[in-house]
Amino acid sequence: MNSPIEQATTTITKYAQQAPRYTSYPTALKFEAVNDDLLENASEHCGADTISLYIHIPFCEKLCYYCGCNKIVTRHNEKADHYLSYIEKEMVAKKSLYKHKKVLALHLGGGSPSFLSVLQHTYLMYLIRKHFLISADAEFSIELDPRNVNSEYLQGLHDLGYTRVSFGVQDINVDVQQSINRVQSTAHIAQLVFDAKNIGFSSVNLDLIYGLPKQTMEKFRTTVVAVKAMSPDRISLFSYAHLPDRFASQRKIPQETLPTPDEKAALHQMAVDSFTKTGFEMIGLDHFAKSGDALAVAKHNHVLHRNFQGYTTHKNSDLLGLGVSAISTIGNAYGQNPKQLQDYYSRLDNETSLTANGVALTLDDRIRRDVIMSLMCNLYLDKQDIEEKYDIKFNGYFCVELSSLKSLVDDGIIELSERYINVPDKSRIYIRAICARFDAYLNKDHHISRYSAAI
Ligand code: SF4
Repeated sequence: MNSPIEQATTTITKYAQQAPRYTSYPTALKFEAVNDDLLENASEHCGADTISLYIHIPFCEKLCYYCGCNKIVTRHNEKADHYLSYIEKEMVAKKSLYKHKKVLALHLGGGSPSFLSVLQHTYLMYLIRKHFLISADAEFSIELDPRNVNSEYLQGLHDLGYTRVSFGVQDINVDVQQSINRVQSTAHIAQLVFDAKNIGFSSVNLDLIYGLPKQTMEKFRTTVVAVKAMSPDRISLFSYAHLPDRFASQRKIPQETLPTPDEKAALHQMAVDSFTKTGFEMIGLDHFAKSGDALAVAKHNHVLHRNFQGYTTHKNSDLLGLGVSAISTIGNAYGQNPKQLQDYYSRLDNETSLTANGVALTLDDRIRRDVIMSLMCNLYLDKQDIEEKYDIKFNGYFCVELSSLKSLVDDGIIELSERYINVPDKSRIYIRAICARFDAYLNKDHHISRYSAAI
């Protein structure tokens, strides 16, 4: 008979197949060529009354080898001026999707939003306030690369109205940092966290990544300890997705330097145990928040939602994405801007459709999206909620999927009752593999290797 550790390793290996991260369902890989009519129709027929705004800033000064984002590596800051002039063109072009709707949240991601100077941020904020109706209590959040930010810069962002900042830490160990081409000072990050709190930001988030090259239990523990000592309000703990066929820079990371699936699972578990024992509450798959934080409160009130930026409290808002490759969720449709910058510019110059890819959700997509989002956000599913919302018999509709869950029940990963599918805390790491059972496209998908390992 196997020891408990051997059994755990076998289980991890068994469910470490490739699976999406489910920031949407269907996933972006299922989007097809569409035009602007898709989002305009959705806005007219099933759009929400409020919106969240996402602006993608694609530029970065240096390339991190692990990166899977849509980015352009350059040191020419003037490119951002040119880009911002197109962001305004897009604001004008998409007016019908947001006029009369209040913005409840703004998020800047990338790339590196900190590629912009404070002056460029000032201009961007002028554009936002010129074109959008901003709710008085809107949250403004921004992702920052600690390597190009200082206290003065943070003060400038706070003066512009930003309330939440997020710094990319990833791992504090120099040999890990060298293998991912992202060497940065831990002391500097600690100072930034301290400064951000003093300046008055309401929330500071730190991003970590587990599963990076040369990461070991001992080294990652030092990262976890250092991050806890900085006392952020939120922590994101992302799994490194090694997809060298999709992302050229990842070919600089030799496969043999990566932790195995069971080593990776152990790194994840160590971090989870360490954060949850010291006052952080786990949110969904990969976030932690101090109790009292808006995400923790939303979790308890069962109003947590997941979108392309991760977990959010704005469940009933549309999401309007601006900038190259940005994705919008309007009513029951997803639409994505062109992924190439020149294509993005030329469509705006020629006034042709800016929405390049997307999908209008079928009824089946919407049912499955609700099932997957409930599991991802709440770690349980109330079958009765789905039955009442969509007038279906859950057990009949999902007969094949429910029987496919049997092995997960037998392995103690999930619990099934007449009304609920429950994922115990210890099984969080399997959540993508569990959700994949409800993904109608996955088994038919010829591009499954484009997803990362589920663990
Ligand atoms: S990880 Fe962030 S900073 Fe690094 S290359 Fe990617 S987008 Fe740029």
